[in-house]
Amino acid sequence: MRPARALIDLEALRHNYRLARETTGAKALAVIKADAYGHGAVRCAQALQAEADGFAVACIEEALELRQAGITGPILLLEGFFEADELPLIEQHALWCVVHSTWQLEAIERASLRQPLTVWLKMDSGMHRVGLHPAEYRDGYQRLMASGKVGKIVLMSHFARADELDSGSAAEQVAVFEQARAGLAAEVSLRNSPAVLGWPQVPSDWVRPGIMLYGATPFEQPHELAARLKPVMTLESKVISVRELPAGQPVGYGARFVTERPTRVGVVAMGYADGYPRHAPTGTPVAIDGQLSRLIGRVSMDMLTVDLTDLPQAGLGSRVEFWGAQVPASEVAIQAGTIPYQIFCNLRRVPLIYR
Ligand SMILES: *Cc1c(COP(=O)(O)O)cnc(C)c1O
Repeated sequence: MRPARALIDLEALRHNYRLARETTGAKALAVIKADAYGHGAVRCAQALQAEADGFAVACIEEALELRQAGITGPILLLEGFFEADELPLIEQHALWCVVHSTWQLEAIERASLRQPLTVWLKMDSGMHRVGLHPAEYRDGYQRLMASGKVGKIVLMSHFARADELDSGSAAEQVAVFEQARAGLAAEVSLRNSPAVLGWPQVPSDWVRPGIMLYGATPFEQPHELAARLKPVMTLESKVISVRELPAGQPVGYGARFVTERPTRVGVVAMGYADGYPRHAPTGTPVAIDGQLSRLIGRVSMDMLTVDLTDLPQAGLGSRVEFWGAQVPASEVAIQAGTIPYQIFCNLRRVPLIYR
């Protein structure tokens, strides 16, 4: 059996969820969209079900997968519905629904529903992606309340730059939000992971942690609270071949690495078809039998190469960790010019093993 696999530590997931709730004192929707950032949405939801205040996913397809697996708690659709004909299913499965655009608001006004909907009304406080304009927000709120179709509204917005702790952007968005919602007596939800960890002063009755649940820091700099997160996923495989090369020999596609000294090269069963980033350069950390070493040469589809020269005990069959407790996924992401979110979401082909 091919040794590439991703171990998923559900106890670490619960630890991270509790950290989000304890540090904020807020209710927390566990964001498990995109198959829980590659960690398996159903298993993650089951692991959190007993304690989570609710879940958030991107779309109704993801929500129905959870309902069919027996997840009964609140599930928020972060982009609401894409077509009005989803509304009967939203009602039937008691899903919570973001309203981010006027067309959605009008569709709710026109819908015939028996149960009142729970709506999270999104404001564009500065990200300029989705959300009602601040000047139209109060009117939108009042129209939904007057429609008779809505039982409860949570006021929400989303940060564009909460991961930049020295930027004034998040504070500006909060100011826009607070001004536009003044006088609306409803619960508020602003904080995603970087805002949960880095913006303690931002009000939020509900927080929406995503990446932090999986134990990865959203920040590029070291951060005290983020350091308390526990990595949930360990991506690992084994050395399947060893090469002893003199100095001056090319390794892998494009000869992107040439040995600088006599080198022991370990070939590992892991590639970009598993989701390991092809853009990770020579020098990206890996842990081999618990010892730090480095990736060398280009990542290929099913294999990659690592440096065993300074690890004389390592060899055929050695275990290689690509990210997990020893190698932070965020570090690999930075090396590869991306973010841990994408590193996790790209995972495929490898079996997920839960413990
Ligand atoms: C994905 C998402 C989140 C979670 O973001 P993280 O940075 O992963 O914590 C929160 N809110 C909304 C609206 C989202 O789309």
